[in-house]
Amino acid sequence: MRAAAFLAACAVGPLSACAPSSVTANASSNAPVTVTSSSAPTYAQTLIDQPANVGDAKIAAVDYYNSGRYLKDVGVVADAARTWVQEEAPRVSKPAIVLDIDETSLSNWPMTKADDFGYFPKGPCDALPAGPCGAEAWELSGKAKALPPMLALYQAARADNVAVFFVTGRREVERKSTTTNLLNAGYRDFAALYLKPNAMKVASAADYKAPVRQSIEARGYTIIANIGDQPSDLAGGHAEKTFLLPNPFYRVR
Ligand SMILES: [Mg+2]
Repeated sequence: MRAAAFLAACAVGPLSACAPSSVTANASSNAPVTVTSSSAPTYAQTLIDQPANVGDAKIAAVDYYNSGRYLKDVGVVADAARTWVQEEAPRVSKPAIVLDIDETSLSNWPMTKADDFGYFPKGPCDALPAGPCGAEAWELSGKAKALPPMLALYQAARADNVAVFFVTGRREVERKSTTTNLLNAGYRDFAALYLKPNAMKVASAADYKAPVRQSIEARGYTIIANIGDQPSDLAGGHAEKTFLLPNPFYRVR
């Protein structure tokens, strides 16, 4: 029972509903209500299982990023993928890796932080670090920076002649700006960039991405690693190993 509801019960209910100090009443079958003072009552927080609070989650996500733990965790996963790629590449024909872009190869933190974890597809993005920052405008600006551990993985893979394919949920209309952004961020000489057709609608990103990986395999490549920040980047097979990066900032189904 919330405090307001309890006070309402106290106003109209039996005496037990607004019992004085040190009296405990069962407001429901399994949850006590403890009144510690008749003048300034506090109520036990065990009446219900409190659901996750989005405000707390946002505070934790900002701390995760600002503390450096986010980049450190990205590094743990990227380094594991790098080790695997270096081991496996010499053992297969036409080795390749598949990389997602957002929060995998590029960081959108300036937009994410400015929008307080909201998502605004339309509108300008011309007041950073203040928001709001429209997602399309942000992506068209091509200002996203590489996640350094992922760029290191990319460069190591290319040094070992491993082909790199970017497979992203960004739309085909963003091909030019996305290509420019990748090049400016240091991702050069990649094999191909796959973007979602402008009109395509899918229930899950996996419904688009898994068939793309299948088509890469059909070209004779062996996808030894598929790396993304969303489970939907990795579902559907067509990779020897998958690597999931941390992302507490948003979810793509
Ligand atoms: Mg992503």
